[in-house]
Amino acid sequence: MKIKSADFVMSNSDVSKCPNEPIPEYAFIGRSNVGKSSLINMLTERKSLAKTSGRPGKTQLINHFKINDNWFLVDLPGYGYAKVSKKDKKTFQKYITNYFLERQQLVCSFVLVDIRHTPQPIDMEFMQWMGENGIPFAIIFTKADKLKPQAIKRQVENYLNHLLEDIWEEAPQHFVTSSSKKIGREEVLQYIEAINTEYFEANKNNIV
Ligand code: GDP
Repeated sequence: MKIKSADFVMSNSDVSKCPNEPIPEYAFIGRSNVGKSSLINMLTERKSLAKTSGRPGKTQLINHFKINDNWFLVDLPGYGYAKVSKKDKKTFQKYITNYFLERQQLVCSFVLVDIRHTPQPIDMEFMQWMGENGIPFAIIFTKADKLKPQAIKRQVENYLNHLLEDIWEEAPQHFVTSSSKKIGREEVLQYIEAINTEYFEANKNNIV
């Protein structure tokens, strides 16, 4: 997919105030510092569409971007940031859970994990929750440039095996990416394009 336009639309913390155009939407979420902003910028070929910074826990909002005028990319706050207070964590959980449970246009979420790490409880819990609530997601492994090909293979296998043992009967769709080396860009965009095509095909009779 060629990215012809990528525009910031709005930021808020209330799912009912999110844009209501009936176009497919993809959410990106993961632990703080996983490389989410860098990935979004790599995918959209925009230097600073999503704000990268060394300050984890900064984007505490649901951020909508409109891509090619026909799909939304949503940058969600990073989770698992230790310095966030208990009260903030609760508020965060509430609006993010509401977003996932109520957002009609959400066709797929991407859960980002750092390819160097072993499965972390917070990610496992989150994916389990997604599964239990029937929210479709794919895994994006980030920072693949940090490992050699053999190690990449081993890490991905270990990770997926862990998911299969603990949670799933079938491994979710997954992608290996590196924002600094532009790895995995085409694969992720093709996946989005295929879902978009299905979405518009299924909804063509409802679109005026
Ligand atoms: P976010 O907090 O998840 O949005 O993460 P950022 O995109 O801000 O990245 C966090 C840190 O990881 C920054 O220091 C980035 O430079 C670094 N980083 C992000 N993506 C990559 C990558 O693909 N490869 C490498 N080597 N570092 C990355």
